[in-house]
Amino acid sequence: MSSIFTKIVQGEIPSYKIAEDDTYFAFLDINPLAKGHTLVIPKKETNYIFAMGDDELAGLMLFAKKIALALESVVPCKRIGVAVLGLEVAHTHIHLVPINTVYDIDFKQPKLSFTPQEFEALREAIASKVV
Ligand code: 5GP
Repeated sequence: MSSIFTKIVQGEIPSYKIAEDDTYFAFLDINPLAKGHTLVIPKKETNYIFAMGDDELAGLMLFAKKIALALESVVPCKRIGVAVLGLEVAHTHIHLVPINTVYDIDFKQPKLSFTPQEFEALREAIASKVV
């Protein structure tokens, strides 16, 4: 069965897409830890980042870098924190989280909620900065 993220890539489940290319896809986390919390994934389902081939993993990091630079130009923050967990969704993903303190990337913190209009405005602003 396809992962929920594969369904997002294929458009079967809606998402706030930031960017995609042939191999990778980035979209806003639906239960964000911080404004702009973004997930970056390979389109091909792999359930563990360190099971990826070297080239595919390097490409994922370079794609994440592009997204992080766009994200930090839109969301005021000290830097973009990076986390890989995969305990909930077994489809490799990198969390990009705008942070000012360590608590901003503490996954035990309550998640933020945004209206669809707020998510869409944020999505559009970040997407427009991806080069
Ligand atoms: P992890 O697997 O790294 O522990 O967490 C999975 C992440 O995926 C969580 O931050 C969760 O909010 C996010 N997530 C789970 N389902 C969906 C979904 O359907 N859409 C989006 N945009 N994010 C999701």
